[in-house]
This record gives sequence, structure tokens and C-alpha cells, in this order.
Amino acid sequence: MKTAAYFDYCALIILLLILIAMIIRRMTKGKLNRCFLTMLIVVLISDIADIGTIHLEYVSGYVTIKYMTHTLYLMSHILTPFSYVIYIIAQADIWHKLRRNRFQKILLFGPILVVAAALAVNPFTHIMFYLDENDAYTRGSCFLLLYIVTVVLCALGLYYAFKYKELFDSKRFAALIALVPIMFVAVVVQFFYPELLVEMFSLSCGILLICMVIQRPEEVIDTETGLCKLSAYVADVNRAAENEKPLQIIMINITNYYAVRDMLGYDGINRVLKDIADKIVDFDRKQMIRAELYYLGAGKFRLAIDELHFDKTEENARMINELMKGGFSLNQMDLNLVHCVCIARCPEDFPDVESLLAFGNELNTIPYTGEVLYASNIFKKNFYDIRKDVDSIIERALADHNFSVYYQPIYSVEEGRFNSAEALLRLKDEKYGFVPPDIFIPAAEKSGAIHKIGAFVLEEVCRFIASAEYQALNLDYVEINLSVVQCMRSDLADQVMDILNRFRIRPEQINLEITETAASYSQNALIQNLNVLNEAGISFSLDDFGTGYSNMLRIASLPFHIVKLDKSFVGGEANSKLLIMLRNTIRMFKAMNMKIVVEGVETEDMVKQFSDMECEYIQGYYYSKPLPKDEFVKFIRNNF
Ligand code: C2E
Ligand code: MG
Ligand code: MG
Repeated sequence: MKTAAYFDYCALIILLLILIAMIIRRMTKGKLNRCFLTMLIVVLISDIADIGTIHLEYVSGYVTIKYMTHTLYLMSHILTPFSYVIYIIAQADIWHKLRRNRFQKILLFGPILVVAAALAVNPFTHIMFYLDENDAYTRGSCFLLLYIVTVVLCALGLYYAFKYKELFDSKRFAALIALVPIMFVAVVVQFFYPELLVEMFSLSCGILLICMVIQRPEEVIDTETGLCKLSAYVADVNRAAENEKPLQIIMINITNYYAVRDMLGYDGINRVLKDIADKIVDFDRKQMIRAELYYLGAGKFRLAIDELHFDKTEENARMINELMKGGFSLNQMDLNLVHCVCIARCPEDFPDVESLLAFGNELNTIPYTGEVLYASNIFKKNFYDIRKDVDSIIERALADHNFSVYYQPIYSVEEGRFNSAEALLRLKDEKYGFVPPDIFIPAAEKSGAIHKIGAFVLEEVCRFIASAEYQALNLDYVEINLSVVQCMRSDLADQVMDILNRFRIRPEQINLEITETAASYSQNALIQNLNVLNEAGISFSLDDFGTGYSNMLRIASLPFHIVKLDKSFVGGEANSKLLIMLRNTIRMFKAMNMKIVVEGVETEDMVKQFSDMECEYIQGYYYSKPLPKDEFVKFIRNNF
């Protein structure tokens, strides 16, 4: 071995170690890994060819082999900056832009093609290099071309890196561009000290740096499935959005994941997930989709498909659906995996990654159809915009008085008249129109705005009750919803009593509704508030009974006078078991001296059914939707 090759051997060891590490760490899948691997192999070939040329220099003869080795070295050497640019492009995920930009395409591929052509004709023209009469390697007249092309490609790489700098964090960015100055120093050293062949060694050090800082599988690869994980999915979708890169995503959710996990245990579920992942990888390879594959946890797999393969997305989703229907087995046990497959298009269907992720979770609640679903048919984009914007919508509503209270009449079966009403809050935003309470109430609870909102509703209702027009309606009371957050506040009782006093209203004229879930909280403040208000003469309703996991003990111990059967509980298909349950639930509450309001009654049949079961009150669209105050007044007047 000649002294000059020492550096090349060191480079060889480094490159081989990186290659082995990549294989062991399963960094072979995915576009970025593939690009890095390509760059690594190109450098490896270049290094081996370099070693070959050095050794052949000291052997006479073998002219053809010498030509071939030199050509291989020069070609792989020039492909190195080329693969480096490709790697940067992959990191920035901007292929789709390049595809449309002819000039940049020429700039990228043109120089390589010129060098390839020059090397191809070199044996006859000797324009790049030749072996002189002593078989010594001599540079040809166009050798400078190699330097020019290298500079052009490196400049192009740096241009992309700097242009899309905000897509990388500073650490990654530094590692990515470090290769160029490292190589520059090596070229200078080698120029002044030709016996020091440090170029390949420096290159391998640069690659090692990229490998350590950028190619970190623990950050992106899920160890169980070998697919990219949630953080990579979020980063990739975000980057695609920033780059205006369209994506189609095939979403696969195992909707009964938790049930299967509980049944199989940790090891079992991981084996099943790996099995699914392998099938997806296999499918992707066979269909040549080259999608980015992700496992987001909790039974959620994703294939992010590039523009080039959009035309086949539907067909592929259908095939995956069939694949999943094929079933999975573990230890000869056929598993009952319930799955759903859905196609989502970004950016058309989803304004941002948050809504995409939220939709991904929501998919589990969609009833099983066995068909491929389309996000555009299910996803209400407006709702997500509202959710994102909800805090400012609430602020705006409070400032601009966009809240109003509607009233839904409640029919007393016993008395044959409308004897009460439920106050329901409405928010009409100038941008989004009516925003459903199911969206703004939870948000207001989180932000604390619920206290102001709650006080507003209470005041509005009390003002209405105090008015002459209300008194003419001959209603017994109005039901007002209280949020759990309000119930936890120690001064709630004082606040309520204060407002009642201000409007000179008797406590019997209002009824406070607390949801079943709120009633399950065992917070002292809640119990105390309820007791104080109860002693003051205010009655309470247990709202939405039948929606949560009822804590009967708590329900029995709190001072409820009315229970409201939730619409989802009463609206289900009448089967004999449900009827038995309903009948006995009603009987139980009656025995506890509680009155029953049935919510969500929409048909005459339901009215009859619950009247027959001796429920005292009925509320629902059958009689009326919630109405603005004036319309409500008219409604009661006309129906008395
Ligand atoms: P909730 O208290 O259970 O109110 C009953 C909901 O059922 C109302 O929805 C009402 O419009 C709807 N509903 C009534 N009859 C029917 C029917 O026949 N069919 C169907 N499908 N729905 C019917 P809304 O107004 O959207 O309110 C939703 C929830 O928001 C309320 O459920 C309540 O929990 C909360 N909410 C409304 N206003 C307030 C408020 O002022 N304060 C608090 N804390 N929560 C409120
Ligand atoms: Mg209610
Ligand atoms: Mg309710």
C-alpha cells in the first residue's frame, strides 16, 4: 500500500461504518433515507475507484482497466455534488417545484450530462484525461470542466439550502451546508500538497456529520413498525404546506385499536402492527407508489402520496381496504380488526396540519361502512376554522354583544300546556354566522370566558322573567344551563342570588341544569354551591342523562329535582332491551321523587311513547326549535 492512499482507506472505513449503521438502524426506507443512501454509495464508489487508481498507478500495463477506473472515479466524483444537491432538494421537499421549472432542471441535470458525454468520448478524444507514453495519468484539455460543474452544483445546493433555510432548524442547516466548506478546504490542501489525498476523507467526514445531525432515525422512525412516526408526519405535512406541495394521504385507522391492545397485550399488538406495516410497505413497493409511510400510534397508518401518483390514489386506497379486510392473525388466532380507509387531499380538504390530525382522530368515530371514505365528504372545514379561531370569536362576541339567548318550550304532559322553557345560548359571528354552543362552550370553559358568558345568560333570563310579557305567559320557570366550570367557582351561589335579587325574581322561577358529567365531579365547591342554592329554593335538573358513565351514587346524593333524558338515549332504535331499560330508568327516577324531561323528541310517536311511560315533560323539535325571545313569546301565546 502506498502512503498516499491512507486517507482514502480511512474514508472507506468511515463510509462503510455509516452504511452498516444505516442498515442496522433500518434507515433504508423513505425518500430522505433513499437520497442519503444514494449519496453515500456514490461517495463509496468514488473512494473505492480512487483507491483503485492509486494502486494501478504503480503497475504497468492494464491500460483499459486504468481508463475504466479513472472514468469511474471521475464520474462518481462528479455525481457526489449532484447527489448532494438532490439530498438538499429532498430535505426541503421541493421536487414538485423543480419539476415545473425548466431552467433549474437544466441547471441541475445539464452539467452532469455534459460531463457524462465528455467521459464517454474521452477514450477517443482524451479531452478529460489520458495515459501518456509512461501510462501516467495526465489531465486533458477539458479537465477544468469537472471543477466548473462541481462549483455550479455546490452553488446550486447552497442556493436551495439558503432559500429554504426556514424549513430547517439551525443545527440541521449547519450540518447540511458544512459539506461545502469542508470540501473547499480539502481541495485547497490537496492543491498545495498533492501527496495528501484528503478529499475523500474530508467528504466522508462531512457525510458522517450529516448522518449524525440530520439522519437521526430515533427522531423519525417508529421502532416497532419501522415506519416514520407522528413527529415526521407533522413535519412533512407542514413542510409540504409551506412549499405549496399538494399531497394525497391515504389514512388507515384501526378503529378498535384499544380493544385489540387490551386483548393482546403489549407484545401481541406490536406484532400485529408490524404485520400491518410490513403489508403496507410491501404494497407500496409492488404498486411502485413510493409513498412516505407513517405510523402515528394508536393504530393509525398513513401513506403520503406524491403528485406523480395522484391518478391511482383511489384505486390504491381500494386495494389497501381489501388488504385490510383480508384480516390478520396472531398465534393462530384470527383477529377482528375494525378498520377504516380514507382519502384526504392537502391542501384542498385541510387548511392546516392541526385539522388534519384532528380529523384523523375523528375518523374513529365514523360508523363502519367497509368502503373507502373521502375526507371532503366528512370534514366540515368551516368547523375547524371556527375551532381554531374560537377564542377570538368569543372575545368579539363579548365585546360586540353577539350573544343572545333563545328559548325552547317544554311541554308538560300532565298539564297539557307549555309550562317552562330551556334557555339556550346563541352566538352569531359576523364572519362565521351561528357558531354551535358545543364548540364555543368548551372553549369558553378552557379560557375562563364562561364566567362572563354564564353571568350574561343568567342576567338575560332574569331580565326576561322580570318583564311583563313573560309574566303574561304563565310559565313556571326557565331552565338555565350551568357549566361545570361555573359550578366549581366558590362564589357561584352569591352571584346567582345577587342577580335574582337585582331583578326581584323568586328562586322557584329558575331551574339550573347541570350535565351528568359535571355531576360526577366530587369537587367540594360544586357540592357546596348546589346545597346553598338548593336551600335558597332553587331547583336543579340533571342534564343529558344517559350520555356519560352515570355515577348513580353521586346523582342520588345531589339535590336534583328533574332529570333530563338525553336525545341520544331516547332517540335510538326501539329494541326490546332498550325499552326495558328506559321503562325502569324512568320508574327509578320517579321512585326517587324526580320529574323527567325527555329531550330531543322529534316525532309524534315519541311523544306518545314517553307520555305512555308517564314522563312529565317533553322538549324537542316536535314542538319547537329554540326560538329568539320575541318568537318564543308569540309561540307560547299562540299555543296556550
Ligand atoms: P343541552 O343543554 O342538552 O341542550 C339541548 C340541546 O338539544 C340544544 O342544543 C337543543 O337545541 C337541542 N335540541 C332540542 N330539541 C332537539 C330535537 O328535537 N332534536 C335535536 N337533534 N336536538 C334538539 P344546542 O342549543 O345546540 O346546545 C347544545 C349544548 O350546549 C346544550 O345542550 C348545553 O349543554 C350547551 N349550552 C347551550 N346554552 C348554554 C349556556 O347558556 N350555558 C352553558 N353552560 N351551556 C349551554
Ligand atoms: Mg340543557
Ligand atoms: Mg341536554
